Amino acid sequence: SFNEFYTKKEELESSIRILSDKIKKVESNIVIPESKGRNFIRNWIKPFGNIFINLLKLIAVPLILASLIKGVSDLKDISKLSKMGGRTIGLYILTTVFAVSIGLTVVNIIKPGSYISEETRTELVGSYSNDANSKIEAAENQKKAGPLQALEDIVPSNIIGASADNGNMLQVIFFAIFFGIALILIPTELATPVKAFFDGFNEAILKMIDIIMLAAPFGVFALLASLVAESPSFDLFKALGMYGLTVVFGLALLIVFYLFLVRILTKKNHNFFLNGIAPAQLLAFSTSSSAATLPVTMERVVDNLGVDDEVASFVLPIGATINMDGTSLYQAVAAVFIAQAFGMELSFGVQLGIIATATLASIGSAAVPGAGMVMLVIVLAQAGIPEAGLALIFAIDRPLDMCRTTVNVTGDAAVSMIVAKSVDKLE
Ligand code: ASP
Repeated sequence: SFNEFYTKKEELESSIRILSDKIKKVESNIVIPESKGRNFIRNWIKPFGNIFINLLKLIAVPLILASLIKGVSDLKDISKLSKMGGRTIGLYILTTVFAVSIGLTVVNIIKPGSYISEETRTELVGSYSNDANSKIEAAENQKKAGPLQALEDIVPSNIIGASADNGNMLQVIFFAIFFGIALILIPTELATPVKAFFDGFNEAILKMIDIIMLAAPFGVFALLASLVAESPSFDLFKALGMYGLTVVFGLALLIVFYLFLVRILTKKNHNFFLNGIAPAQLLAFSTSSSAATLPVTMERVVDNLGVDDEVASFVLPIGATINMDGTSLYQAVAAVFIAQAFGMELSFGVQLGIIATATLASIGSAAVPGAGMVMLVIVLAQAGIPEAGLALIFAIDRPLDMCRTTVNVTGDAAVSMIVAKSVDKLE
């Protein structure tokens, strides 16, 4: 009957109410302790991660200024050795641009950042929303700009303004290169003290990086803790694994490319090249420093690969400083991976910009452990990708550093053989 139906309905409704209250209680029991933990991490741990990122950003501008001014003004000797110098620099830049292109290709095909679920991505973007939003907005604005906007943006009207804005690293680079060239052109007696100043300045900056890197384990811990607390899902780690594999795969392709290049241009086969350079590769892998490996690279290239001493002692030190193909490939992959992780679409123009910045950033990277990651800030800033994304890749940076340094050293050795062959100084 009608009455029976009504009483049943009310009974049912009240039990639904009781049940949903119970569910709410259970939920609140879960949520409260978790959000307390999150708050603790946000208030007491995350700031240390932010401090670490700030330190890296702090060091980026003076590092570019000092190392590029020093690097460019040191090129004075090249005017004497113009034939060899031109070829060396040309090959170094070509191989680097090629390396970045491989990096961009593999990361766009494999898309390691897509292994993050929509849910995690929303949390990720949310946890860095201010930073991310402003960067995404900047990237949107960039898209609306005219075709020559990028060129116009390279030339700063004010160097302090350029260095104050982290998005304008190319302007700082422009200033440093311009200044370095001017330094070559003024009389030596005037240039010498300025160069000595930048030498010392450069050393001090490298020391600062050393000191900052001492804090890296704590910084990385803080960043990871806040990342994990804010996006507790496992697919973040899966994506990180895919990112690592993408870098390693790209590096492997690059080695194959060197083998072809050596084969075609010097007529030496891959076994000869690999056997000759293996001990230097091993040292590069274990020290993560091209500079520390340089003496062994020199010895192997001269004694085992048949490169004339004169060529090796010119090509290799420059190579250890400016030719970092592995680093540039890694920077391209890392930048695009972070963008993918944050759900940003990078336009073709922005990716072309990454070729330019990753090439320059790898040239500017010091040949010491972790330098490539510091300079990655520049690539991110220029492409409008949130720097906070560095937190994502910190955890596996060291093993990737070992791999990219091995490739950096291999690239230097390959170029030294090709240059030697071209000036008839290869045995
Ligand atoms: N460790 C690298 C090198 O010395 C630089 C980098 O961090 O990528 O070649």
